[in-house]
Amino acid sequence: MADSIVNRQSNPTDKTSYKSTWTQRAWFASGCTTILISLAKSMLMLAAATPTSPRTFLQLTLAAFLGYLLADLASGIYHWAVDNYGSPMTPVFGSQIESFRAHHQHPSAITKSDTAVLSYMVAGVVTVIVLPINILSRDPVFLWFVGVSAGCGLFSLKLHAWAHTPKRKLPSVVAALQDSGIILRWSQHKAHHRPPFKSDFCTVSGIWNKILDESNIFSAIEVMLFRVFGVRPRSWSEPNSDWKLAESDFVGSNPDLD
Ligand SMILES: [Zn+2]
Ligand SMILES: [Zn+2]
Repeated sequence: MADSIVNRQSNPTDKTSYKSTWTQRAWFASGCTTILISLAKSMLMLAAATPTSPRTFLQLTLAAFLGYLLADLASGIYHWAVDNYGSPMTPVFGSQIESFRAHHQHPSAITKSDTAVLSYMVAGVVTVIVLPINILSRDPVFLWFVGVSAGCGLFSLKLHAWAHTPKRKLPSVVAALQDSGIILRWSQHKAHHRPPFKSDFCTVSGIWNKILDESNIFSAIEVMLFRVFGVRPRSWSEPNSDWKLAESDFVGSNPDLD
């Protein structure tokens, strides 16, 4: 499940590689179906139960909010990890590492890709992890939490892509969600593409960015990993690295985005 994101972002002039393959579409559909099963099973279990109380709706609302928060936090931790550690040769994650790094040189390339190209790897992970939960769980609130969290996670790269898209090109509902702060917008993400490239890693809503950045938690973990394993994060090598924007890609300074 790893190929064209790397090719596409390493070679942003290759327009054909922005198009999804049938395999990528199948994984994307599988992930979406898995999430829909979580949500549908939750609703069906509640419908079959004794009359639902306001307490149940409160639990579902809270579960959805926690799932949304967890997805944003997870997107930040994952983004920080692949930006800073490993290489394109790293098993399993190599293509993702290459892709995230290429995104720093060609940020606008992410806006040109089919959703399935962006999301098929996360969709595969969602399918493998969430499908057994769907089968085994008998807790409708937990299934609702899993469905919302997995859904936000599956679309985290699409939300990231929308944050890089000029507002006039966005569907109006997406622009409204960005304006309301429910999903990531450029103003919450732009610092990630500017020196020292150490902040604003979260890509669902960006809610966790301020907490993670002001607590310096990632910096503390980087120091700990260096002391224990002797591994340096890539952000320490700035400015002699490939974090910088390629001259052909000026989206990082495009005022049209916000
Ligand atoms: Zn990044
Ligand atoms: Zn970005």
